[in-house]
Amino acid sequence: MYKLHKFRERNTKIIKAKKNSYFKSNGKLDCEVCGFDFYLKYGELGKGFIECHHKTPLSELEPNTETKLSDLALVCSNCHRMLHKEISTLSISTLKEILNSN
Ligand SMILES: [Zn+2]
Ligand SMILES: [Zn+2]
Repeated sequence: MYKLHKFRERNTKIIKAKKNSYFKSNGKLDCEVCGFDFYLKYGELGKGFIECHHKTPLSELEPNTETKLSDLALVCSNCHRMLHKEISTLSISTLKEILNSN
């Protein structure tokens, strides 16, 4: 399941498009859960770096459905690992709640 999920997150074309549109509307690429900004932290090295997460649980996805930009969330590596830590993928809002309560 995790491998398949990761596979869907490797479609570089849609990821690029997602990053571009996010950057256009926010002026930065920061984690949608914790706000981490690789560019702020790592400078040039982190420029343009952020991970892409597919929000729809695979069990709810038809095979071969096209990924839409709205299906994706931009998250830092830590949050991304946490989203996938349990067998069933956490939602962005659940992880946010967990983060804010700790
Ligand atoms: Zn994060
Ligand atoms: Zn993911």
